[in-house]
Amino acid sequence: MERRLSKPQKQKKLKILIAASEVVPFAKTGGLADVTGALPKALRSLGHDVRVVMPFYRQIDRIKYCIKQTEKKISINIALVDHPAIIHEGFLPDSDVPVYFIDCKSFFDREEIYRTSRGEYWDNNERFMYFSKAVIEMIRVSDWVPEVINCNDWHTGLIPVFLKTIYAFDPALKDIAAVYSIHNIAYQGFASKDMISHAGLPWDIFNMHQLEFYGGINYMKGGIVFSDAINTVSEKYKEEIKTPEYSYYLEGVLAARDKDLFGILNGIDYTSWDPATDKCLPVNYTPENMAPKEEIKKKLLGEFGLKYYENVPVIGMVSRLDQQKGLDFIETIIEEMMKLNLQFVVLGTGEEHYHRLFRELTARYPEKLGVSLKFDNSTAHNIYAGSDMFLMPSRFEPCGLGQLISLKYGTVPIVRETGGLADTIKQYDFKAKKGNGFTFQGYNPWDLFRAIHVATDTYKNKSVWERLQQAGMKENFSWDIAAAKYVELYYLAIHNKNLKNTEKSV
Ligand code: ADP
Repeated sequence: MERRLSKPQKQKKLKILIAASEVVPFAKTGGLADVTGALPKALRSLGHDVRVVMPFYRQIDRIKYCIKQTEKKISINIALVDHPAIIHEGFLPDSDVPVYFIDCKSFFDREEIYRTSRGEYWDNNERFMYFSKAVIEMIRVSDWVPEVINCNDWHTGLIPVFLKTIYAFDPALKDIAAVYSIHNIAYQGFASKDMISHAGLPWDIFNMHQLEFYGGINYMKGGIVFSDAINTVSEKYKEEIKTPEYSYYLEGVLAARDKDLFGILNGIDYTSWDPATDKCLPVNYTPENMAPKEEIKKKLLGEFGLKYYENVPVIGMVSRLDQQKGLDFIETIIEEMMKLNLQFVVLGTGEEHYHRLFRELTARYPEKLGVSLKFDNSTAHNIYAGSDMFLMPSRFEPCGLGQLISLKYGTVPIVRETGGLADTIKQYDFKAKKGNGFTFQGYNPWDLFRAIHVATDTYKNKSVWERLQQAGMKENFSWDIAAAKYVELYYLAIHNKNLKNTEKSV
């Protein structure tokens, strides 16, 4: 964070509740879960009393994670129907960070988290409105009250709204500060204005400065407007989302909160992502002993039905398959890319169009392209380790974790200069011998093609390549640095909240 509180009360340890729709290792569809699984542990090691709350989805393994049912029960009325829930309790693995699970059968006992192959669940708006209210009701029946709630993405955007409206005068809750973290502004949670009544919110917040958004309501807008401090997950993305090109119509809302908006780059949990200790790999390696990386490459290629050729670089990709991730760029250049001396290994799920495309392409290029259309953690680890380069040509990227992970695995990233990718990956400068990857700027598939060309050419020069790998492996994107910045943000939120409370009482 560039701006700081003038006098942070750093000595005091905080009570922090992190609310999220997904948390590693219990449920994950993307980077949000990595963050909410790792940040609490880093905050805990700074001495704070941090806890996590998430929905109790059917897929969460209660035996494996020793999750216990508590006596605490809540019931919330949404659209005239009562939905009861029981609170369960566990811990983030290998830590003493408590995790609360909201067990509401009608909303969370489902096949998947957000969507099945038939599409999004029709009632996701109700599900996460429910979750947001349930987090607050859970605090009301608990003897532990946080000083700060850190809400994450649209799913929890209504927590600050509830706190500042219907719960504003509850003596147990009135001092809780809210921090809102934007992990991806493209997903905002739009709902019809009827949801105001369904949630029991007051109609006076249905106006363009608060919850209203083009005739309906917008959960993320609510989070931004009603929180005491806001952050997103890189400095560059923080600047980008203030422009119409990236903001998905929220630039004005963010402009109004500019002085409380910060960028904090995500970290990586090196206890899960380290080639020296990674349990998903057949063999481990270190910067001093890179030979096993080639073994992993051979095995990886075998698993994707490809032959190993010495000195042919493998480009890996682990990604949601959608436009945000630059899949349309890849679609445009793939024919030319397949003419280069390389192999391409892709792990991903997403839009049906790209599933079909990759199925067709693997049939046409069986020697060069290997694809797995799944969400599979172990395969992801083996791609980070077994590839020579990692591809992330995103149109926009709030932070991006794949490029940070691949650096640690000595797998050189090829990225578009946007958001967190621009903040972390610097084009290799052949003269100065500096940089950690290959980048391109344009919103143009052929700029991506050129970057791939340069990377595969550079790969031929073994000493340059080793220098690039070593530079990446030495970088440190651990959570300690980011967690300290989050603590500053929490103090700022408490400070802002206290100011508002004082203004109200004057
Ligand atoms: P996103 O926008 O999807 O959150 P990030 O780069 O922030 O992108 O984080 C994506 C996370 O999800 C990374 O940990 C990545 O390894 C993981 N991931 C993405 N797709 C898959 C998949 N198909 N299988 C396993 N892990 C995946």
